[in-house]
Amino acid sequence: MDTEILLKILRPTDMPAWQDCVWKRQACEQMTCVMCGRRITMERDFMVEEALEQTSIGKAIASAAASEPKNDRYENAEFWEDDAHHGGFNIGASRQFEAEHEVDADGPDWMSYELARQFLEWREKIYGTLPIGSGPFPPWIETEAGRELLWYANLLPIKTGRLHAARHDINRGRAAEAELDYAYTRYVVAQSLLRVIEALSSLRSLPNLPIDIAKLQDELSGLILSVVEI
Ligand SMILES: [Zn+2]
Repeated sequence: MDTEILLKILRPTDMPAWQDCVWKRQACEQMTCVMCGRRITMERDFMVEEALEQTSIGKAIASAAASEPKNDRYENAEFWEDDAHHGGFNIGASRQFEAEHEVDADGPDWMSYELARQFLEWREKIYGTLPIGSGPFPPWIETEAGRELLWYANLLPIKTGRLHAARHDINRGRAAEAELDYAYTRYVVAQSLLRVIEALSSLRSLPNLPIDIAKLQDELSGLILSVVEI
């Protein structure tokens, strides 16, 4: 039922494929991709710099560079911090959430939308069970379904807030700017929901989970109906 509803929300036809690599847990990793190619190149540069720093000349250069104004080459690369390609669910997902929260703080306040707050509460029922810090993590989180759930549950509050904001802009007559954003965000929300549904189904068979899967599924069904109405 939920899946049928979501599949009706189609991918915008004029959306470039590389945009998927902005939000997916597992990006395409192709050098020809605008997002991945740029990130892979930066990673290589970074590794070369790190290796160089271990040499005596490198240490001298690094020492000199430290006294120079900071090179902000990496500063705009939010996806670098997101670490999406490694499926880094703990640090990456939280950083992504925080980063987007910061970015959106300058625009419409996504938390002002009831549905975004509901998704945040829903997300907390999962994230609230996680150990504080970097681990060790319980085995269920280390499964593919566990990682998928954490990643995409994390996207839903901010993305549904953004969807509402785009709808709000369209209704205010700013359709030209907002329609593409609306179509794209709606697609990302639908895709994230599909992955969350699949992850919950997979996790349901695991014993001794700290989360109530059936309850999460029930609540999610209600939230999905609200998403479709935006
Ligand atoms: Zn890519």
